[in-house]
Amino acid sequence: MKTSLFSHSLSKVLDWTFPLHCSFCGDYDILSRKISICRSCYPRSIVPDVQLCEICKSPWVEEAKSCSYCGSRNIFFDRLDYGRIRGERETRILDRVKFREEFYLRFFFRMGLGKKISILKDWRISKISFVPSNSSTLRKRPYLVAEPAMKWISKALNQPILPLLEKQSGELQSGKTFTERFFHARFAFRIRKEFEKKLSGNVLLVDDVFTTGATLNECARILKENGAEKVYLFTLLKGLNR
Ligand SMILES: [Zn+2]
Ligand SMILES: [Zn+2]
Repeated sequence: MKTSLFSHSLSKVLDWTFPLHCSFCGDYDILSRKISICRSCYPRSIVPDVQLCEICKSPWVEEAKSCSYCGSRNIFFDRLDYGRIRGERETRILDRVKFREEFYLRFFFRMGLGKKISILKDWRISKISFVPSNSSTLRKRPYLVAEPAMKWISKALNQPILPLLEKQSGELQSGKTFTERFFHARFAFRIRKEFEKKLSGNVLLVDDVFTTGATLNECARILKENGAEKVYLFTLLKGLNR
């Protein structure tokens, strides 16, 4: 009786300390032990079956010799790559990390990054940065979703993570229309004082998801305005729609 009570409380402690069970089905296996998803719930990568734009990875339109994304705006980043296409399961994982604070699920987004390392090395990155979080979301989301992936990339490339940008408006991106996001992004961020006009080399911006890309594109513009030579983007997820 005593032993089972002890092992019960021990397993509760372990469950809290380590992600023992799958966040989706409650099963336990070697994978769920690490990233809170068991092998049967782990989503298979979606592979796009159309030709993609080399710069932004949107579907390529052969007749236009462009993609609808790059063809319709000024692009300030030099290239985008991503971990996975955003499927239904990936979206649910992202939401659970963000809104339910399922800490270990973040490590899902670090899986398979090894395959990207040669691309990332080719980019000759000299610093890694991120889009600053809004302080009111930060209370709900005390850690960056992309942090494990960003730290892994930083280690693999042996380049530092630097907070180059800061917010300058308290408004949130979500809940805005597509057009509003574009106008809003223009004024949302600025370079941090200590980096003003002092950037050099190539910067890699890491973020959780490429949706409209408005925020990332604007961040790239600011970084270039302050001396960055090239700005590359790496997002954990990328929508397939555009
Ligand atoms: Zn499962
Ligand atoms: Zn493009």
